[in-house]
Amino acid sequence: MSYSVRSDLEGQWQSIQGRLLEEYGEATYASWLKPLCIVDQQKDCIRLSAPDAFARDWVKSHYAERVKVILQTINDTFSQLDIILSASEEEKPTVDKPIVDITEISSNLDTRFTFDNFVVGKPNELAHAAARKVAESTDVTFNPLFLYGGVGLGKTHLMHAIAWHITKCHPKRKVIYMSAEKFMYQFVRALRFKDTVAFKDYFRSVDVLMIDDVQFISGKESTQEEFFHTFNALVDQNRQIIISADKSPSDLERMEERLKSRLGWGLVADIHPTTYELRLGILHSKADQLETVVPPKVLEFLASKISSNIRELEGALTRVVAHSTLVGREITLESTHDVLRDLLRANDRRVTIDEIQKKVAEYYSIRVSDMHSPRRARTVARPRQVAMYLSKILTSRSLPEIGRKFGGRDHTTILHAVKKIEELMANDKRMCEDVELLSKILET
Ligand code: ADP
Ligand code: MG
Repeated sequence: MSYSVRSDLEGQWQSIQGRLLEEYGEATYASWLKPLCIVDQQKDCIRLSAPDAFARDWVKSHYAERVKVILQTINDTFSQLDIILSASEEEKPTVDKPIVDITEISSNLDTRFTFDNFVVGKPNELAHAAARKVAESTDVTFNPLFLYGGVGLGKTHLMHAIAWHITKCHPKRKVIYMSAEKFMYQFVRALRFKDTVAFKDYFRSVDVLMIDDVQFISGKESTQEEFFHTFNALVDQNRQIIISADKSPSDLERMEERLKSRLGWGLVADIHPTTYELRLGILHSKADQLETVVPPKVLEFLASKISSNIRELEGALTRVVAHSTLVGREITLESTHDVLRDLLRANDRRVTIDEIQKKVAEYYSIRVSDMHSPRRARTVARPRQVAMYLSKILTSRSLPEIGRKFGGRDHTTILHAVKKIEELMANDKRMCEDVELLSKILET
């Protein structure tokens, strides 16, 4: 394979890894997806390599489909994906290796995830205070500390921050941070190589055990069982345990009752969805870190528009900054709009076509049924076109989908309506005001 083809492939793989990180989050990404390397492309088959046989099988059964879909959006010359062992690793049981590789633990930690970089606000102040307390005290005050909240709200960040703090202040304390998925992987692997004694010894010798995304082991009975025993052994020895999940202990599904109840024994702290103030604070801090001047208006715009989660918010800012550096132009509201078009749409996805039809019908005093009817009188046809236009702009629905919602019309009819309204808005002030007002009503 020529050098340029290879570097092309590597470039593609890097951008795919970026997407995988966004989709799966740090913990899963670091355990499974980051270690994959691109090997080559042979005809229509792209080959990736995994560090060992178990990881290869795991990735094949859990992530390969998704990786393939993303790869295809970037590179349409291939249709198959194969995952092989990396050249240095032969298919052999790794009995001579320690069951858990200690070096992996610290390389698991993201250097940016420290307390210094964590912005505190109402939604996360309890979780933050609890994390600090656990990090700073030498005796165990509550066990376990259970952090829970939605995706991208800072659970992993706080856990890494605790780990960094403890390793810095007490280098001798043995701290283990791992995703529940990795815990399960280590456990299954220990079973397979008949080395469960080493596994147990290893986990029971730690001072601080952190397991991220514990919801992952829901429904996995033997892993839960093992985890339960490890948990009890550590609590008995007064070692600190920190757990994160996407739900509170009692809401975890397909989790053994006794484990749920154990998980809720210590301090349960939830992280609430972000507020505008917190999002703005995080953007300011992130912009400082990037050493870029971002106009306050742009930060305010991002904070108000991207409310889903912090990972997405950060991603948006990074994109805007990267774009401005690349093209060598200042960041403006307009460039921000352009760069983030797809993301902004996704965040507006909450508006449904039904709502649009209802509001537009109310606004023009026509019946909602007129949205679906074949009537062509201007008094109903124009408002209908406005509703079609707004459906295209405010939702992520495709033209055929929108057509179906308007009495089974063809997608070309929708396209025509979109063009027509755009044309009218350009020439007719009244139409422009109507549409803007309607968008405002629908978006708030
Ligand atoms: P979770 O584990 O809850 O899914 P993460 O901890 O991975 O979320 O956070 C997602 C991203 O948002 C990370 O890049 C993290 O640094 C950032 N982040 C989350 N909360 C904060 C915060 N309060 N201050 C600064 N950055 C944050
Ligand atoms: Mg996480």
